[in-house]
Amino acid sequence: MRPILRSVLLCAALAAATALAAVAQNPSPPGESDQPLAVPRFDPAAINRSVQPCDDFYQFACGVWIAKHPVPPDRPRYGRLTEVAERNEALLHDILEKAAKPDPKRSAIDQKIGDYYATCMDEAAVEKKGLEPLKPRLDAISGLKSKQDVAATVARLQSEGVPGFFRFGAQPDLKNASVNIAAVDQGGLSLPDREYYLSDEPRFADIRKQYVGHVQKMFELLGEPQEEAAKDAQTVLDVETAFAKVSLDRVKRRDPANRDHKMGRQDLGALAPHFDWSSYFATTGAPAFTELNVGWPDFFKGFDALLQARSLEDWKTVLRWNVVRDAAPLLPVAFVNENFNFFEKALNGTQELRPRWKRCVALVNQQLGEALGQRYVEAAFGAEGKARMSKMVAALEAALDRDIHDLPWMTETTKKRALEKRTAVGNKIGYPDHWRDYSKVKIVRGDLLGDNERASAFEAARNRAKIGQKLDPLEWSMTPPTVNANYSPAANNINFPAGILQPPFFDNSMDDAVNFGGIGAVIGHELTHGFDDQGRKFDAKGNLADWWTEEDAKEFEKRASCVADEYTSFTVADGVHLNGRLTLGENTADNGGVRIALMALHDTLKGATPPSRDGFTAEQRFFLAYGQVWCENSTDQSAKLRAQTDPHSPGRYRVNGVVANMPEFQKAFNCTAGSPMVRENACRVW
Ligand SMILES: [Zn+2]
Repeated sequence: MRPILRSVLLCAALAAATALAAVAQNPSPPGESDQPLAVPRFDPAAINRSVQPCDDFYQFACGVWIAKHPVPPDRPRYGRLTEVAERNEALLHDILEKAAKPDPKRSAIDQKIGDYYATCMDEAAVEKKGLEPLKPRLDAISGLKSKQDVAATVARLQSEGVPGFFRFGAQPDLKNASVNIAAVDQGGLSLPDREYYLSDEPRFADIRKQYVGHVQKMFELLGEPQEEAAKDAQTVLDVETAFAKVSLDRVKRRDPANRDHKMGRQDLGALAPHFDWSSYFATTGAPAFTELNVGWPDFFKGFDALLQARSLEDWKTVLRWNVVRDAAPLLPVAFVNENFNFFEKALNGTQELRPRWKRCVALVNQQLGEALGQRYVEAAFGAEGKARMSKMVAALEAALDRDIHDLPWMTETTKKRALEKRTAVGNKIGYPDHWRDYSKVKIVRGDLLGDNERASAFEAARNRAKIGQKLDPLEWSMTPPTVNANYSPAANNINFPAGILQPPFFDNSMDDAVNFGGIGAVIGHELTHGFDDQGRKFDAKGNLADWWTEEDAKEFEKRASCVADEYTSFTVADGVHLNGRLTLGENTADNGGVRIALMALHDTLKGATPPSRDGFTAEQRFFLAYGQVWCENSTDQSAKLRAQTDPHSPGRYRVNGVVANMPEFQKAFNCTAGSPMVRENACRVW
């Protein structure tokens, strides 16, 4: 089970789904990625000077870039972040093309990543095998004799990476974060959110209709007659809708108290007595345990009722669906296309499949990330970057300390504890000190589904082996080429993979103003997560514990509500609003992050006023650099999907939502009261 992490850029779950769903029919000509892609630097030419910065700062900072970079047909959105990710992708492509050459002198790492990549690229072999690799799983399901047997089958499938019904794994004990405990949590949904099943709004009802059609087509591809496939598709929707009804919604899940239900194993048995938990846990191979956390107990009660209400045949249908949905991107092209048509095209508005090499690079990065990552780091990241980054982190930490110290609304008691927590924040930069050892993962050239299954099984077993073990704060949850960063409340640390430590975030050729507006704001964002609506509920040791006085908690909530209301007022497409409560943590982190990054810039400049560059003062360049990181275009479908599921606001509001709250911005650009970028009731938490 993934730990709770607050990231800066992308919803990790969405990024993974995109990578899994996107396989193309037409691989690129060899060497396509050898053409160097332009470095996406801070760029005065991206500025739209026909717009006033005080009217619409995002359009000012990004207007020309936005006009020049429409969403390409194989993506749901395209931003400056995507440009960075594409450069990393090209580098990984080169590494993998070289590693894929069957040379007996290859290292063990190159053998694994190279053979997995080559296997993924061999589309002809995948076509030739057809459904044969899926047969053992499908046969096991059709051979089920009773509902009692469902438990062991679910355990086996989950252990091979096939999600279904609920989630199980290790997670830090919420109230004793130094130790990992067993945890089960809600699951079972194929659509991105429970509202897709439950809402009467036409946009969701329309997706449901398309979804049933898609599931039917997939069953037909498995060989079912049309009528039977249609009936089975309806069963899948009905069962998943029942899961949705008993699932906790995203906003309520943001409160860790709603996910804090530690109990004895027998108590889980009492919640769901008709599921054979003994058989389930034994089959997972997890270490023995007596207590576990049950994320949302009502879900398991509902699951039990559903188990009783539905026939064995219905459960076989849902299991079959889980298997084919999970494997679709690795199956023959008819499955790949059908999977793309629903999950990418209908849900996200993506027009074309991504070239196969991109899909295969993403697959290796996902499953053997710390093997491929070693090669990436050798090629792209130096010790010098680590040293400069450490210095910037220290500058941001000093600024946050001063910010906390000077806060007008917090009492000394809470300030002292906040500073204790800040002082305890650890940081990891670039890549792990100890690389994950994949020697147990057998990669067999030509066996795509098998390789996928074995790599997934390795990861599931690695996760479950952590049950009862100490939390390892040095473990990474992102691979080195990832263009992202995060804060872990349990480990109380901030993490910056090598993939983000490059232009336009981190650029040796640029002045401090630009670097503090780029990577500085990212560092500030991650530090602030320790003190957002979720992070503030964990203490310096990562435990769920209330260290706030009642009065200060009230003051915090008041200020956070201001931020929530501000972002709820923003619309993304077709009148769909952002959910200010879903995005509260990220927006709080953006607002706090930019403020302390600017403080850190001023500290670094020590009162000096650097000469203007490109016609902009240091403060103006700071805000422009921040704004330009978020230049992006998106399909309407993707924007609406993310408004429902993504805790991050879209680029436009990450920029305008923040600067409109900052007198420092208004001073830098001489904005007058009444300008759109001057909020009358400016919000400020940190
Ligand atoms: Zn974040």
